[in-house]
Amino acid sequence: MQITSGLPEGFNAGAYDMIVVGAGYAGAVCARRLAETIGYRVAVLERRSHIAGNAYDCTDEAGILIHEYGPHIYHTFNERVHNFLSRFTKWTDYQHKVLANINGTLMPVPFNHASLKLAFGDERGEELYQKLVETFGKDVKVPIMELRKKNDPDLAEVADYVYENVFLHYTMKQWGQTPDQIDPSITGRVPVFVGDDDRYFPQAPFQGMPQEGYTALFEHMLDHDLIDVFCDVDARDLFEIDETTVKIDGKVYGGEIVYTGPLDELFNLDLGALPYRTLDMKFETLDMDQFQPVGTVNYTTSEDYTRITEFKNMTGQILPGKTTIMKEYSKAYTPGSGETPYYAILEPENRELYERYLERVQNLTNFHPVGRLAEYRYYDMDAVTNSALDLSDEIIACHA
Ligand code: FAD
Ligand code: UDP
Repeated sequence: MQITSGLPEGFNAGAYDMIVVGAGYAGAVCARRLAETIGYRVAVLERRSHIAGNAYDCTDEAGILIHEYGPHIYHTFNERVHNFLSRFTKWTDYQHKVLANINGTLMPVPFNHASLKLAFGDERGEELYQKLVETFGKDVKVPIMELRKKNDPDLAEVADYVYENVFLHYTMKQWGQTPDQIDPSITGRVPVFVGDDDRYFPQAPFQGMPQEGYTALFEHMLDHDLIDVFCDVDARDLFEIDETTVKIDGKVYGGEIVYTGPLDELFNLDLGALPYRTLDMKFETLDMDQFQPVGTVNYTTSEDYTRITEFKNMTGQILPGKTTIMKEYSKAYTPGSGETPYYAILEPENRELYERYLERVQNLTNFHPVGRLAEYRYYDMDAVTNSALDLSDEIIACHA
């Protein structure tokens, strides 16, 4: 593998069997799979100056490993994904825990047995917990929007508390809308957990941090003789796309193209911009060993920011006397502003707009949109990896 900045003089896309746009999970997984299974020569074009997409991590001025684009915690139920990624990294046994700061008291989220006792006192908390167990069973995840539908005074007491104190203000900050107004799958990501597991991803069998970090994982994944990576290259400067052909550098390109950027950008937003939320991330290095007890504290009843992450608590890095924290402020994304489109806004009309862009590439049999941006989805790292593995299988099957 070669990673270079910019394209070399005389770069010839035609010399490659596949062009991948974007060096995040979606792009890197496809590049690796196609290179190693069917011997494709692959060029990866990445407009940032680094690989790893939004999972990129690096060392800050204080020497602390930080996640430049927000806290990334690997977790999955998918064995195939886990086996694939585990070829490129060893994992720490970090189990992510999150506390919600609810009017000054720290309680586990997802809201669980312990949280109920903290919120309602030992006795009442236990009564309410037993009611939840009777209703739903033990070690079960109950989305807040499901819990709210239950017509029972005890369950309503829990639902109202959790809705008001865990979801309402945080969701307003994150999405500018109430939990009732957004797609229920979003709050469903953090269901009430009827049980004692106090991890953010209860029951997920595989979780941890890549031992040398995410960027190192990507270096290993892309480290293949048939893969060349070109950073600081925006594919939009090379691509011309219409319903029948893709041209790269003015020439019709006949190889496969894996595209992991936003689809609307490829067409200069001509049908309108796909809406996203973006984040302002404020990093601070403090002269102390540890700032907070866990990796992330969610501010669910106060503050303008949604959450504070302390990286050393997640990576396990030992560096006395200094710690770096990061606050996330969410806002609407403005296309063309240089902001990063972090979260697709899951509304039916946005999906329709996306589908209209998708239609325009559907007849291009060699053009494959994949990933969180290109599929306009709220995908975790494992889901993107899975999607990219599936796409790779399809391309391999067509090649055979
Ligand atoms: P990306 O990582 O966005 O990669 C796409 C790449 O394409 C980018 O590097 C971009 O620069 C490049 N690109 C786009 N357009 C062009 C172009 N025209 N030319 C060249 N290059 C281009 N997932 C988890 O599993 N656990 C977590 O804890 C977690 N935390 C998250 C926290 C935040 C704040 C965010 C925003 C996401 C989080 N995720 C998490 C999700 C995770 O980031 C994504 O699932 C994953 O990174 C998506 O990979 P991707 O390859 O689809 O997209
Ligand atoms: N959420 C909330 N309070 C919390 C945690 C999550 O209201 O303490 C809601 C909020 O709407 C958020 C969604 O659940 O956007 C999904 O949370 P998650 O932590 O999965 O978001 P991500 O890590 O992807 O930003």
